[in-house]
Amino acid sequence: MIDLFDKHQSSVERHARMLQAGADAVGLTSAKLLSPTRAIINGRETVLAGTNNYMGITFDPDCIAAGKQALDAFGTGTTGSRIANGTYGLHRELESELADFLGRQHCIVFTTGYQANLGMMAGLAGPKDTIFLDADSHSSIYDGCTLSGASLVRFRHNDAADLDKRLARHDPQAGGRLVVLEGIYSMIGDRAPLAEFIEVKHKHGFQLLVDEAHSFGVLGPNGRGLADEAGLEADVDFVVGTFSKSVGAIGGFGAGDHPMFNAIRYNSRPYMFTASPSPSSVATSLAAVRKLKAEPQRRHRLAANSRRLFDGFHSLGLETCCDTVSPVIAVKCPDEPSTIGMWNALLEAGVYVNIALPPGTPNRQCLLRCSVSAAHTQADIDRIIELFGDVVASGAKMLDAGQEKMAQRA
Ligand code: PMP
Repeated sequence: MIDLFDKHQSSVERHARMLQAGADAVGLTSAKLLSPTRAIINGRETVLAGTNNYMGITFDPDCIAAGKQALDAFGTGTTGSRIANGTYGLHRELESELADFLGRQHCIVFTTGYQANLGMMAGLAGPKDTIFLDADSHSSIYDGCTLSGASLVRFRHNDAADLDKRLARHDPQAGGRLVVLEGIYSMIGDRAPLAEFIEVKHKHGFQLLVDEAHSFGVLGPNGRGLADEAGLEADVDFVVGTFSKSVGAIGGFGAGDHPMFNAIRYNSRPYMFTASPSPSSVATSLAAVRKLKAEPQRRHRLAANSRRLFDGFHSLGLETCCDTVSPVIAVKCPDEPSTIGMWNALLEAGVYVNIALPPGTPNRQCLLRCSVSAAHTQADIDRIIELFGDVVASGAKMLDAGQEKMAQRA
């Protein structure tokens, strides 16, 4: 008999090597959260610089009060799907608040952002259709494509000319065509060149979905995302977003203006066959979306903090993956052992960032990925820069010591 776990041997060994070098990068535990930007990790107060908590809204007193009220009024969970008993007034209220915020006719709330992509893509495209994906798309987009049964065509990351070429080879009568882009790409923080893609849209004709997971609340004069920033919302057919980042909760949404948009509710398995988001999460999301609208100063602070970190890294001579500023700032590292070494050294010095290693990264790069929050103080940002400076300066030494330690343990 072949043990089903045999295929996991190499990832188990890789994880063991990581543990030999220090903390558990893929299972790090925060014992206590002190604020949106502070936690107790490994017994130490740690500055959080890798949480996607862009607005720093997770401890907002109004959001917390709304969540508590919903717990009292509606209980802990809905115990059912949106199409059975799982739609409460709160879900409808959140959908209409989001539609209003986005300036869209329709909005559907899903249980997570991951399911929002699955649900929208599988609701929109079927086996006769084709989905054109940016090669660096998030896994939820790839999985949405698989679930839909549509044909998948990948084009080079952020390369509208490559999409143009692939569309030219595709029979427009063969089925519907959906192109999926992201506002800010999650791993390295670059934006889709939306205007270039929309030119291709006008030339070939397709329907366009933009996943604004990392840009919702963050970009644009109204905080609606990349299309808002670029002034191109009218050319985007569908928007996806998540509540797990700037909204500080859990859940996701799809929105659009198509008159048949609500058909997705009855033709999308990730909407139909899972329980709806809990009342407390929906209520905190609702309160947070209202704050995003009422408090634009949050995104202005976020932009200033992002610029400060970006400039600070560059003044240290660090190489970031992307040359435009966004709240996602990824520092390139030479190889896996040194990335693990630097990540551990930063954690020991009191800063948590994300470690990102191949195959989960574009171009198989090794990255220390930071995400900035509006709740970071200037002193927090300066501390992160200073610690990166120290760690990178001692990087070579650490690499040697780490390899020695691993050799001794082996
Ligand atoms: N889309 C993108 C681009 C993401 O980065 C993520 C999560 N990081 C998701 C969708 C899924 O969102 P969630 O984690 O809220 O399910």
